[in-house]
Amino acid sequence: MKIHEYQAKQLLKQYGVVVPAGQVASNPDEVREVAKTLGKRVVIKGQVHSGGRGKAGAVKLADDANAAEAIGKDLLGKTLFFAQAGADIKINRLLVEEAVDIDKEIYLAVTQDRVRQRDVLILSMQGGMDIEEVAHNNPADIAKLLIDPLLGLQDFACRQVLFEAGMDKSLIGKMIPVLKALYAAYVGTDATLAEINPLVVTKSGEIIAGDAKWDIDENALFRHPEFTAFKDESETDPLEAEAHRRGIQYVRLEGGDIGIIGNGAGLVMTTMDEVKRAGGNPADFLDIGGGAKAEAVTNSLEIILMDPNVKGVLFNIFGGITRGDEVAKGIIEGVKTLNVKVPIVIRLAGTRAAEGAELLKTTNLIPAETMQEAAAKIVELAYAK
Ligand code: GDP
Ligand code: MN
Repeated sequence: MKIHEYQAKQLLKQYGVVVPAGQVASNPDEVREVAKTLGKRVVIKGQVHSGGRGKAGAVKLADDANAAEAIGKDLLGKTLFFAQAGADIKINRLLVEEAVDIDKEIYLAVTQDRVRQRDVLILSMQGGMDIEEVAHNNPADIAKLLIDPLLGLQDFACRQVLFEAGMDKSLIGKMIPVLKALYAAYVGTDATLAEINPLVVTKSGEIIAGDAKWDIDENALFRHPEFTAFKDESETDPLEAEAHRRGIQYVRLEGGDIGIIGNGAGLVMTTMDEVKRAGGNPADFLDIGGGAKAEAVTNSLEIILMDPNVKGVLFNIFGGITRGDEVAKGIIEGVKTLNVKVPIVIRLAGTRAAEGAELLKTTNLIPAETMQEAAAKIVELAYAK
C-alpha cells in the first residue's frame, strides 16, 4: 500500500528523523493559512502516489501566503501526467512546508533485495530529481549495504556505507542516527520501501528529510490498524476498490473484454493465456480463492459485470477444496439477481463437478469440458454479437 509523503513524514518523525514543519491542505484557503502560520518561504507539493512530482510540475516554491494561495488554486483539482506512475493523476491535497535551504541532496532508502534475500540500504551523494539517471549512468555513485536481519543495522556498517558513498567526514556522526532511524521505521511499519530523496543537508548543517516515499506490505496491514487512516483509494480503479472491500482478489486489465473468474492464481493466469491464445482479450484477473462459497462467487460475477467493457464471462474452476456444486449455486444465484446480458461459459472439473454440472443444466449457461474448449467458446460467443 502506497502512502502519501505527508503520512510518511509523520512516520519518520515518530522514529526520530527531522522533517520540515508543515501541514496538508485541501483548498486554497488552507494553503494560505498554513503558509501564513509558517511565516516564511514555503514549498508546496501535490500529494499523489507517485514519485517524480518535481518533473511533473507538482512541486512549487512560494515566497509568501499570497503566492502560496495562487499555487494552491492552480494545483488543487488539477490532473497532471506523472511519468513514474505512467498515469494522469488528479491532485486532491497539497503538503505546505517551510522551504529548506538546500546545500546537498542525498538519496537514502531501504528496500528489499530479493536476489540476496536481504534488506538493502541504498545511499548516494547524488540525490535529488535525477537519481534514476545517476543509477543508470554512474552506478558507482550509489552505495549499497545488505543488512543482516539478525544483527540489524550496526554503527560500523553505517560508517562503512557512508564512507563508500563519499560522505563528508564531518557529517558521518550526524548521519548514522538517520540511517538507523530509517531502518527502524522500515522494519517497524512493515514497509517494502522507505525512501528519503532528497535527504537534505541544509546550509547550516542540519539533516532534514525533504521528501518521503513509502510502501507498506499489504499482507502485514492486519497488524497495523493505525494505518487504516492512511488508505487513500482515490487513485485506485473504482472496481478494484469495490472488489477489495468485498475481499475479492481482482485486477482490472486495460482494453480487455472477456471477464475471467477462476480459483487459484496460477489457474486464473493460465486461463488468461488460453483466452488470449483463442483470440480474446482478458478484462481482468479474478481469483475466488480456495473453498469459495456461493456468495463469494455471486459477488465476483457482479464485480466482473460492473465493467461495461465485458462482452462475455468465463468461469474456470478446478475443484480441490472448492466444490463445483457450490460454485454452480453461486453462478445461478448471480444470474437470477443480476441483469446478465452477456454469454457465460463454465468449465467445472474436480470435486463435485458432476453435481455442479447437473445444477447448471437447468440454465442457459454454456458448459465446457476443457479449459481450451471453454476459452474458444467464450471468445466465439462474446465477439459474435
Ligand atoms: P519528487 O520529485 O516527487 O521526488 O518530489 P520532491 O519532494 O523530492 O521535490 C523535488 C525537488 O524539489 C527536490 O529534489 C528539491 O530539489 C526541490 N525541493 C523540494 N523541497 C524543497 C525545499 O524546501 N527547498 C528547495 N529549495 N527545494 C526543494
Ligand atoms: Mn523526491
